[in-house]
Amino acid sequence: MGELHTLQLENGWLQVKVPLPFSLRWVNSYVIPEEDGYTLIDPGLRTDEAIAAWEAALTVHELKWTDVTRILLTHQHPDHYGLAGYVQEKSGAPVYMSRKSHAYAQRLWGEDSRFAEELQSLFAEHGMPAELIDAIGHNLSSFVKMVSPQPQVAYIEAGSTIALGGLDWLLIDAPGHASGQLCFYQPERKWMICGDQVLPHITPNVSVVPGEDEKPLNLFLTSLKELAGYEVEMAYPGHRDPFGDFSGRIEELISHHGRRLERMAEMLAEEPRTAFDMCEALFGSRLRDNPHNLRFAMAETLAHLYELVHQGRATHSPANSCTSGVYYTVTPSQ
Ligand SMILES: [Zn+2]
Ligand SMILES: [Zn+2]
Repeated sequence: MGELHTLQLENGWLQVKVPLPFSLRWVNSYVIPEEDGYTLIDPGLRTDEAIAAWEAALTVHELKWTDVTRILLTHQHPDHYGLAGYVQEKSGAPVYMSRKSHAYAQRLWGEDSRFAEELQSLFAEHGMPAELIDAIGHNLSSFVKMVSPQPQVAYIEAGSTIALGGLDWLLIDAPGHASGQLCFYQPERKWMICGDQVLPHITPNVSVVPGEDEKPLNLFLTSLKELAGYEVEMAYPGHRDPFGDFSGRIEELISHHGRRLERMAEMLAEEPRTAFDMCEALFGSRLRDNPHNLRFAMAETLAHLYELVHQGRATHSPANSCTSGVYYTVTPSQ
């Protein structure tokens, strides 16, 4: 059973497919041999299934938790960060992530977090019905145990170099999907550990998040164009499997968002809509039964609408007592 979850990669690393209770199915953790012990990238979400998968992987490869000497996190999303505190307790290893990523994790999961309320009021302002907002609140609070205990963190920053598996890697700031996310680039081998910034087969989520930058899609697209400037022979993503055509995948993602913006501008030309109306028109009302996916769909719809406004292609009128939320309208062309 354990072997189902692990793959020995050609470069000597271990890819552990840590199970997730979402449609993403698994998150990749890479176990990288060091002179003394192992570096572990992105341990996963804290669930019983994830811990069982790790125990099986360690047994199959004759490893112990104390062989883990360092934990590196590409970003703060719970499917990557959630198990870091647990692995730290088991191994005693330090956990490294960017300062920005850690600040965001604390804002989300810290004791006095107001994140859920802020997100709920953002969605209410943009037309989401109250019962769905409640369901999203419950779903968010269910994550607390999946990121506990929280790790003690030390910082690594974009622009610096880090030794990993006997090679030097450049840390690259990769915002848009997650503020403060880091990609790791190895210039001689042309390898890129890309977190969730570039994924094969999956479009990385780009969300408007209260308290973070209001132009996440713009940041994401700018970051993709910068990443396309690196020569990459093998990319190691946070989900699915390592892949070769990094620049081709970046082009696909950029054109996906271009088409999506175009389509949304056309839909606004037909009739003004709230972000929630737009979300349902794009993703279907079946998401009403899945608060987790609905949250991502709504936050991503907002990211595209904010980008249309930022580009001057749409405007919005504030919510008032006669409307169900902020209405977006296409900007008339001159
Ligand atoms: Zn992510
Ligand atoms: Zn992820």
